[in-house]
Amino acid sequence: MKIKKLCLLWYILTSLVFTTLPAQGAILPEQAQEVWNQLSKTAGLKGNKTLILEKAKEPNAWVSFEGSNYSIHVTKGLLKLMVQKNEIAGIFGHEIGHIKLGHYQKTVSRNLIWYLLYRAFGKDNKTTSTILSLGLALAESGFSREMEVEADDFGVQLAYKAGYNPWGLYNALLRMKKAGFSTSPNGFNSHPPTNRRLEHIKKTIKSLTGAKNTS
Ligand SMILES: [Zn+2]
Repeated sequence: MKIKKLCLLWYILTSLVFTTLPAQGAILPEQAQEVWNQLSKTAGLKGNKTLILEKAKEPNAWVSFEGSNYSIHVTKGLLKLMVQKNEIAGIFGHEIGHIKLGHYQKTVSRNLIWYLLYRAFGKDNKTTSTILSLGLALAESGFSREMEVEADDFGVQLAYKAGYNPWGLYNALLRMKKAGFSTSPNGFNSHPPTNRRLEHIKKTIKSLTGAKNTS
């Protein structure tokens, strides 16, 4: 499979916060696929919509695409950590935001480097996963903090439009923070600090619905 462009969603996490989130559970791959189909449809993405389950324990999700066929990659770690479908919907909405807001086009040079590396080394599986990680770092580091905030807003609005509780992304971030996941050094400085993201997302949701956190 040729993967031209990728986005990795990964959060900068600093401290533990105790919240009133629902108890631990897990999202099934079939449920994630259902959410992906629904959000893609609402966003008007055409072509195949595949969900690819990645083995990694870290909670991550990213998008790859070739032409108009989009695939969402989710790690087992993410599905294990999330409890409600609206949390997955918020994360997927964020990823679709990067596509629909043209962020990949704006970071084309970095993605081109990644694509060339993938083409050069991507044939054997072991190397592919190394190169994938590198490619993801390149793709994600090409996004500015402003783009991440835009993608958050887009994700909240898209999930809401698709019929999900708009607090999903907020709760997903809180859940990751509470679980103590932090970034590796090779990466994702473009993500604003989690607390700032949470505050901004909260404002966006309130302006959208006036709703309380009901998840
Ligand atoms: Zn992002």
